[in-house]
Order: sequence, then C-alpha cells, then structure tokens
Amino acid sequence: MTVEPREELHPVARLPEEWERWTAELGERSFRAGQVFRWIHARGTTDPTVMTDLPLSFRERLAEAGLAMPLRVTEALRARDGTRKLVCDTSRGGRIECVLIPMSDDPDDDPEDEDGAWDGRVTLCVSTQIGCAMGCVFCASGQAGLERGLRADEIVAQVLVARQHLERGERLRNLVFMGMGEPLHHYDETARAIRLLTHPDGIAMSPRRITVSTVGLVPGIRRLGEDFDGKVGLALSLHAPSDSVRNGIIPINKRYPIADVLDALRHYPLPKRRRITIEYILISGVNDDIAHARELSRTLRGLRVKVNLIPMNPISATALSSSGASRVDAFREVLASEGYSAFVRKRRGDDVDAACGQLVLRERLERKAARACSGGCS
Ligand code: SAH
Repeated sequence: MTVEPREELHPVARLPEEWERWTAELGERSFRAGQVFRWIHARGTTDPTVMTDLPLSFRERLAEAGLAMPLRVTEALRARDGTRKLVCDTSRGGRIECVLIPMSDDPDDDPEDEDGAWDGRVTLCVSTQIGCAMGCVFCASGQAGLERGLRADEIVAQVLVARQHLERGERLRNLVFMGMGEPLHHYDETARAIRLLTHPDGIAMSPRRITVSTVGLVPGIRRLGEDFDGKVGLALSLHAPSDSVRNGIIPINKRYPIADVLDALRHYPLPKRRRITIEYILISGVNDDIAHARELSRTLRGLRVKVNLIPMNPISATALSSSGASRVDAFREVLASEGYSAFVRKRRGDDVDAACGQLVLRERLERKAARACSGGCS
C-alpha cells in the first residue's frame, strides 16, 4: 500500500520545536531554531540576508531551502472609512484577501472595551479557505464553492503582511477568522495557525484577542474548546431562530441542527465574564420579523452570548437583500428588552467590497454564471 507523501511543513508553519529538528539535521545548535522563528514571526521577515545574528552558512542554507512568504500582496485598497483590503496571490496558487479594520471610537465597535476612545486599535479579518464548501445562500464564498483550504502558513502570513500595512499609530489588536472560508472545516490548519500566532516568541497574540467565526461545525467547536481551554473567542453565524428558517439559508444546518450547535456552545469552556458572539444577518423577509426576534431570544435563553445584528451585504449571486434600518432597530429592541446585549454592526469598507471575499470571488462567480457582467455590478 502506498502512503500519500505529506506536503512538508512550510517554514512559516513551523513551531520552534519543529525548527529544532531542522537545525539539528544541519548540525546547528538548537537555539538557532528560536532565532529563525523570531525573525519570521516577531519581526515578520523571511529574508535570510537580514538575519544578521545567524551564521552566514546557516543563512545560506535557509536561502537554498527557499525561505519565503507563501503569499504576496498584489493590491491594497483603501475605503473611505479607513478599512483596507489586501488582495494576495498565494505561491501554491489562488488569490485570497484579508481586511484591516480600524475600530472607530464608537463604543459599539468593541462593546467589551469600556474606554471607547480610539487608540490606534485595528482588527484584522483573515481568510481560511479559497471559496467555501458550506453553500450559505447569502454568502459570496458559499456560492462560489470550495477551491481549497489554506495552510497554516498562509493564514499566519496574512497577519505578517498585514502588519506591514499598518499606518502610523496603529497597532494590531484583534484578529477575526471571518474572511473567506469556514475555519473549522480545515480544523488542523486553523489550530496550527492559532498556535503559531499565540506563540510567545512570535506574534504573541493573546488568544482572547482572536475570534474564530463558524457556521456551527459541532466537532470543530468541541476541539477548539478542548485544545485552547476556551481561551480563543468564538462567534457563531446563527442567522436564524429556528431550524426551519436556518435550513433554508444554511445547508449544513441539516447535519448540525441548532440544538446540537447550541449544546456545543454550552460546553465551550469559556473563561468567566467572556461571552460567545452570535452573528445574525438581517435578510429582508427571511429572518427579520419581530416574531423571529422573539423566537431568537427564546432559542438563546440561558447562553452567555452577545448578539451582533448585521444588515446583509448584497451579493450578485442572489436577489436576497438587507432589511431596512427601522426593521433592524425594531429587531434589536426586542432582544434588548429581553435582556440581551445586542448591537447593530455597521457595514465597513463597502466601497472596496470588504465583506467576506467579495472582491476575489466576484470574478469566479461571474465566470461560473457564464454571463458577462457589463461593469454595472459594483
Ligand atoms: N464561515 C465562517 C466565517 C466566514 S463568514 C462563518 O460562517 O462564520 C464571516 C461572516 O460573514 C459570517 O457571519 C457570515 O455569515 C457573514 N456573511 C456572509 N455573507 C454575508 C453577507 N452577504 N452579508 C453580511 N454578512 C455576511
């Protein structure tokens, strides 16, 4: 029986102990492993020529081994509200994007922070797959289908390149896995990426500043909770108060119905005072009735959650549209009167198609639909 050769770990995906195996093979001393890891992850470079505290022979070996970032920024688009979208070509093939979002001084932007005033905090939204297999009807990634999952190095590299696009006074504060793809579908790569991102010798992000957003893959939610002791933030894209509504817009709900997903949330080992985020897109005539809001508050009863209400971003693949502002407010009022923390999230970066892989996916969707878009689809 032949065993598929496993693709060798990309250097950017190696943890310090994995670098140690590599340095040992080269006859280098083990502390070199930590040095390379720090160059890549703390200082953000894969150029061996600048790694001046390493012996020349070792730097040459790194260069021979082809040490390089697995992706390259090809376009940086800036929206009027300061949101920046980075479009990146990956060396394994395929295009991805990530979005830098300066958090405004609107306290609703980061409800868990008391201070409110903007101090340069930026949230980065990363992609975990090219396209997505989940098929949610309102989502551009879902409609395009899955091309491939990203490897851990490609997830981490989005953070490394995004840091180079921070502007004066800005600092990367939060990281959300809310770009293209379902992070718990390729759990192992997502988990490795989190290990790399939180490593104290690297980027050293606090796990509580990382939020993984999921459509509700129950086994993945359990593993994430166990592997990181509940320290990594969790967001659930619920978008419906009942299975009958959710089945119509989120196909995977038939496999993992709401009761099972909420049960997994209940068992997520959340630290004290932390809450799970429930995301709820408001889609006109689908899930935005006052009766839906009441049902939602019953469904969520007893869970430690906050609810983010998001008016749906229009996408070209569907005629579904956002609820109007008064409907959104009324929906929020119902949840607030039932004792929930409920926030309406503003759309950010509309003029650069910042939402959920829309820019990259537009091309693919249009090819798929096999009809030309005569420039009017922006
Ligand atoms: N697969 C993960 C993360 C990627 S999508 C998840 O489902 O959570 C990130 C968020 O954007 C999800 O809440 C998703 O439902 C939402 N989203 C997708 N399409 C959208 C649209 N057209 N308008 C507003 N939000 C959208």
